[in-house]
Amino acid sequence: MNNPNVVLIIVDTLRARNLSCYGYHRQTSPVLDNHAKDGTRFKNAFAEVIPTQPSFTSILTGTNPILNNVVSHVLWKNAEMAAREQSSNILLNETLRDKMPRITPQVKMAGELFQAGGYKTYAVDNLVKMRPHFGRGWDEYVYSSEASGEDRRFAVTADDINFHTFPLLSRIRNERFFLFLHYWEPHAPYEPPPEFQQFVKEVKDRQAMRQDLLIKGRDLSRDDFIYITKVDRDTVSRSSQSDLAHLNKLGLDHNTIVVITADHGESFGSHNTLGHAGLHETTVHVPLWFRGPGIPAGKVVDGFARHVDIVPTILDFAGVKPDIPYELSGRSLRPEINGKTDGGIDAVYCAECGQQKTRSVRTRTWKFITSIQEEIRADHMPVQELYNLEKDPDEENNLISEYPGVAKELEEKMFRWVEAECRKYGRAKDVMVTTPLPDDLKALEDPSRFAFSLPAK
Ligand SMILES: [Zn+2]
Repeated sequence: MNNPNVVLIIVDTLRARNLSCYGYHRQTSPVLDNHAKDGTRFKNAFAEVIPTQPSFTSILTGTNPILNNVVSHVLWKNAEMAAREQSSNILLNETLRDKMPRITPQVKMAGELFQAGGYKTYAVDNLVKMRPHFGRGWDEYVYSSEASGEDRRFAVTADDINFHTFPLLSRIRNERFFLFLHYWEPHAPYEPPPEFQQFVKEVKDRQAMRQDLLIKGRDLSRDDFIYITKVDRDTVSRSSQSDLAHLNKLGLDHNTIVVITADHGESFGSHNTLGHAGLHETTVHVPLWFRGPGIPAGKVVDGFARHVDIVPTILDFAGVKPDIPYELSGRSLRPEINGKTDGGIDAVYCAECGQQKTRSVRTRTWKFITSIQEEIRADHMPVQELYNLEKDPDEENNLISEYPGVAKELEEKMFRWVEAECRKYGRAKDVMVTTPLPDDLKALEDPSRFAFSLPAK
């Protein structure tokens, strides 16, 4: 199949382990499971950088933050607060937004790469108000979270997305298109639609839930709480209307590749964290599968896959060779999808510059997490962590004191990788070191400190 359409669906905050197809003990995701079953699924796929803005930047550029410069929601919190003080209902004042560390100017977005390859490009998303680069490269960008003239940001529902997407699909069905859809349902405040309230216990008093979680330090979702994506809800309740079924109805399924992933997972209290913080499996292990023409059904790949691999893979399937002055950080997963290899990647490197500054390296057996700047490690977290994932997949036993040799080896491996990436992209210092945390008010004063541009060749 030459030049298939490509639909990239990213569900915010959907962690892999809560989907039945990734082994969750309850039936949470019948539609997604079925969809995954007809395609090739990556068992071990990871978000290399969290939370949302850096993660989407990484997915949509196929590059890591050492090149693209976006490693954080930097200044978001402050900018938002300041904007609220200055005026009533502006979420992010333009001037403050302009002071946020920018994406490296030369780095191209997926839409731009597909456009250059002759595709028409469409997005139904709302990230553009957080960072302007998310608006680049679209023939049509539908801002998804405006209802009755009001910006609802996280409260955008799958109904909102589908409301825009279904007519759009009907209109573009005869074009060769790349379509990006961003669903938000699993994101806080965890309010499922009425027909799924039965799945939720103990969340009537959210403040009490928070306290409870932090005291017990346990993962609430394991037994008490299920969150479900509305992609599924819709399909359960009105199966013919789900966007996945909609593709079939329009006769697009035979020439369209659909990719499904999440930007990150969620911590529901494990490791004393809530939200998208910490580099534990709950937060960085994400679902990922590809379905469409030329992609084997029912195949599961065990090797490591990363967010940065998605764009190289879909460009490869689309037959688009990017004309860019830098090397993409990821590689096409096509050999794994169509062949017998597991990719041969021996480690995945993740970073968080949200609630704390941490980097990690994960091999098949071990995960090592370290604070980049000890003094800003969250006070309830150890400075370094080491887990044996084969014996302890929930990362409950920190073995840092028991295996100092293993920890040292992994730490060196991690920093060797960081140095190599910095060298590759001509950056003097790790972006994790040069970027402030979102609480750094001083950062507003001199944004030029965080600029990065590729050196001329
Ligand atoms: Zn997110």
